[in-house]
Amino acid sequence: MLDTAQALIKRGGKTLGLSEKQTRDLIKINKEHVFEIELSSGKKLKAYRVQHNNKRGPYKGGIRFHTDVDLDEVRALATLMSFKTAAVGLPLGGGKGGVTVNPKTLSDVELEELSRKYARYLAPHIGPNKDVPAPDVNTDSRIIDWMVDEYSVVTGDKTYASFTGKSLGNGGSKGRDAATGRGGVIALQRLLELLGKKDQKMTIAIQGFGNVGSFFGVIAKDEQPKWQLVAASDSKSAIYSKTGFDARDLDVFKQKKGRFSNWPNATILTNEELIALDVDILVLAALGDSVTENNMANVKAKYIVELANGPINEAAHDYLISKDKVILPDIIANSGGVIVSYFEWVQNCNGQDWTAEKVNDQLKSYMIKAVDTLYKTSKENKISLKEAAFVNAIKNLL
Ligand code: GLU
Repeated sequence: MLDTAQALIKRGGKTLGLSEKQTRDLIKINKEHVFEIELSSGKKLKAYRVQHNNKRGPYKGGIRFHTDVDLDEVRALATLMSFKTAAVGLPLGGGKGGVTVNPKTLSDVELEELSRKYARYLAPHIGPNKDVPAPDVNTDSRIIDWMVDEYSVVTGDKTYASFTGKSLGNGGSKGRDAATGRGGVIALQRLLELLGKKDQKMTIAIQGFGNVGSFFGVIAKDEQPKWQLVAASDSKSAIYSKTGFDARDLDVFKQKKGRFSNWPNATILTNEELIALDVDILVLAALGDSVTENNMANVKAKYIVELANGPINEAAHDYLISKDKVILPDIIANSGGVIVSYFEWVQNCNGQDWTAEKVNDQLKSYMIKAVDTLYKTSKENKISLKEAAFVNAIKNLL
C-alpha cells in the first residue's frame, strides 16, 4: 500500500513537472511514534501514530485496531490522509494511528484500558491544533469517547476538539457515523452523471458490509432506487442473490452480529468470488490491497469504488485502467468521513451544534466539488481518475 501511494505521488509529480526534491518532500514523513502498550492482564501490544504532513493544518486521520497493522501500513495510511484532505480542500494535514490487535480478543475492560493508554501516551503529541485522530477500522465512537476523556484528564483540555468521531452528546457531530458511506454514494452519483450514466439501472456488489459499506448500501438504496444490491460480504464470506437484497435487512442482521454464511435463501460465495461477479458496480469497502496481480483479471465490473483505503494496488490499477474500467479513487470516494470530521472539529472549536441537514448539505457540496475537479483534471491531462486525484492533492500541498 505504501509503494502504491508513493508511486502515485511520483506520477503526480511528473504530470506537474515537479523537481525530484519537491516530490521527495511530498513523500517524506514528518514524525513517527512507535510504542508499546502493556495491559494489566500482561498483554503487550504494538502501537503507532504516524504524522505525515501538516502543511495545510493539524495532522488528521483515524486509528485502527487490527492484526495487520504495522509501521509500513500506518505510514501508507498517514500518507493517503494528507493527500485526501488536500484533494478535497480541507485545512488539515494527514496522519494515522494503529494498534496491532484483534479487538475481538479483548474484553470491554481491556479495550477501554488500551484506548486510554493509547491516548495518554500520545497526549503530548496530539491536540486540537496539532493532530486530531478519529475512528478507522474496528474503532468507533465508544473508543474515541474514552480517548477524549483520557486526553482531557491528562491535559485539562475541555474543547472535545482533540478527536473526532465522538458519540452524539459527547461532542460528536450529527451525520459523522454515516459520512463515509454517504460521501461515497454522492461521489459515485456525480461521477456517473458526468459520464452520462445518471439514473441508469445498475447492479452493485459491496465487499465489506461493515461500518462504511453498510451505510453506503443503505444510503444508496434511499438515494438511487435504480441501483440494485446483489451481493455483499463480511470478513468470512459473501452472499449473492440475483433478485437483490434490501441493504437495511443486511444492516440489521449485521448489527445483531450475524454472519453472512447464515443468511437464508442466498448463494454463499467467497470474498474472491464476490470480486469476480458480473455486476456493474463493485464497491471495495474492506481492507487495503484487495485487488492485486493475483485477482485483477477476474474483475468484471465497469465501475469500481475504492471505499476502503488503498484497496487496489498499483499494478492492478494500471491493468484495470487498460481494460477500460473506471476507478473512483479512495482519497475522493471515502473522503466523506474526514470531511464531516472537519465539521465536527469546527463545531467543537466554535461551540456550535449543526443540524443533520446542514452537515449533509455541506458534505454534498464538498463531494461534488471534489468529483468535478477530479474529472476535469483527468480529462485535461488524459490520466486516470486516481492519478488525477493525486495531481489535485499535490497542487494543494505545494
Ligand atoms: N478513518 C477515516 C479515513 O480514513 C476518517 C479519518 C478522520 O475522520 O480523521 O479517512
